[in-house]
Amino acid sequence: MTMGPYADNVPARFSESQSMTDQQILAELKERVLCLEEERRQLLESCNELQANHDILLERIGTANQKQVQAEMLSMELEQVFYSCADAMWVVRNDKTVVRANTAMLALLGKSAEEVVGRTCQDLLDASLCGKKNCALHRSDVNTPVKEYDVGRNGLDGEQEHFIVTAAPLVTLDGTPGIVAQFKDITDRKKAEAALAKANVTLARMARLDSLTQLPNRRSFDETLEQEWQRLAREEKDLSLILCDIDCFKQYNDTYGHQAGDDCLQKVAKALQDCARRAGDMACRYGGEEFIFLLPNTHLDGATRFADRVRQTVESLALPHTTSQAAPVVTLSLGVAARIPSVDTDPEALIKAADDALYQAKEAGRNRVVAA
Ligand code: GH3
Ligand code: MG
Ligand code: MG
Repeated sequence: MTMGPYADNVPARFSESQSMTDQQILAELKERVLCLEEERRQLLESCNELQANHDILLERIGTANQKQVQAEMLSMELEQVFYSCADAMWVVRNDKTVVRANTAMLALLGKSAEEVVGRTCQDLLDASLCGKKNCALHRSDVNTPVKEYDVGRNGLDGEQEHFIVTAAPLVTLDGTPGIVAQFKDITDRKKAEAALAKANVTLARMARLDSLTQLPNRRSFDETLEQEWQRLAREEKDLSLILCDIDCFKQYNDTYGHQAGDDCLQKVAKALQDCARRAGDMACRYGGEEFIFLLPNTHLDGATRFADRVRQTVESLALPHTTSQAAPVVTLSLGVAARIPSVDTDPEALIKAADDALYQAKEAGRNRVVAA
């Protein structure tokens, strides 16, 4: 019995062999069906695998998108921090090109972002550090530690401005190395420091000056005497002291009043100051109505002549003193002593000698000079 697609147009003498062919064909077809089923199964398997991969991919894309959104938000947040930071900041590449500058930095420079970005930092800032070897840009690679600099520059109003600049190395967005520099304005602090230093100098000066006469005071005299004593001991040169005391000054106060007494002290002090012309000569207020001259490199004779010129100068001021026992004007009594200092003695004996000589001048009638 013949069947299938070959039955109608196949001759009868071939029917047996044809029947075998049909079986073969059938077997072949079965085989193919099996193959196709296997292929289908494999395709189904691949399809399932693809579906699984697709799901994983979808999940990964979702995670990636989420991360990108987070990164963008973080970047926006960092940008906000950068731009709104109260301290001036900028990012500069190692070739000195400014990559970005925040609002405070633009205000510091007095320029817009367009005028700043892309230009060289040195052209824009012109600070004390610019172009110098120790600028962070000259040694910034990612391993350079964060550096702090004290930087000064002429501000927009011409006044000197001071900053603490912190420079940290970083790799800019285009991959080139550079720095992010933060400027902390310390101008006010610097001004306060300068004012304090000035006040300290004034204070130190005041501590050494007598407030009424503006002559160096006793403390200043003691210090200078000590120094000169040592110096002249080494040089083996004379040191002279002249102790001066206004005659009958108690009566002066009693007659003219304490304020007039102060005025008188100021005038006498000025006259004494004018007498001490040689470098190293020093006129000091020793206390009350007493003054002292310190004359380095001056022997007793020279100091005695000098003392008499001082006496005459004060007398010639002609400040009336009607109740003085010495003269109708304000006068001085002066005691002179001189010594070549030695390192193993102190100047006390010299002061004592001048004081003794002054006492003798008083005893002898005042308005005179006595040399020890
Ligand atoms: P002598 O001729 O012996 O030196 O007599 P003196 O009156 O000058 O000496 P005394 O020591 O008796 O008196 C010194 C006076 O100087 C008393 C004091 O009130 C006065 N005196 C001291 N310091 C000042 C001062 O700063 N201002 C004024 N106005 N008077 C002063
Ligand atoms: Mg006195
Ligand atoms: Mg006196």
